Amino acid sequence: MEALRVVLATQNPGKVAELAELFPDWSLEGLPPGDLPHEDGETYLDNARLKARYGRLVAPPEAWVLADDSGLELDALEGGPGVLTARWAEGRHVEKALAAVEGRTRTGRYVCELVLLSPDRREVRGTGVLEGRVAERASGAGGFGFDPVFVPRGHDRTVADLGDDWKREHSHRALAAQALLDALR
Ligand code: IMP
Repeated sequence: MEALRVVLATQNPGKVAELAELFPDWSLEGLPPGDLPHEDGETYLDNARLKARYGRLVAPPEAWVLADDSGLELDALEGGPGVLTARWAEGRHVEKALAAVEGRTRTGRYVCELVLLSPDRREVRGTGVLEGRVAERASGAGGFGFDPVFVPRGHDRTVADLGDDWKREHSHRALAAQALLDALR
């Protein structure tokens, strides 16, 4: 059977590579150059849809379109920064997360929302949630962003310690990918 041709609504080559590993049976490619819409939705789903619908306009009509949005929710910030995570972290993920939970509850979660649009604009969705807590200090060399200070529930090591092989099976994006494939079947 020919692989499903899927255009990922991002201009970030790292994301294309990461998602390609989660969907090994698909032929995944990035978007042609152009401006993605501003991510001003109120939820991860809104933002993923914004990107997917833009992708639908510019991708080849026979291809499917995939978009994702993700973030970190801290109980100390009543679920924030959530959809604002990238702007909140400003490239200082570890310092910001450690400061946010100082002297407060350390629990939180990574959330990922994936939206897939078929050539006839049918929408398939997948959500992934990875519960955990912010560690006392940074540790580990794997992953990126908050991974050196995020300890998944049931573990005593950070995601960066657990490593990229662990992430491929258990991250919020991996769980969202599994949910999306289940919904597609
Ligand atoms: P995006 O929506 O996937 O671009 O992610 C939003 C924010 O969450 C960015 O600041 C990312 O660095 C952070 N983030 C997303 N996924 C991960 C992850 O797997 N590990 C650590 N940080 C992440």
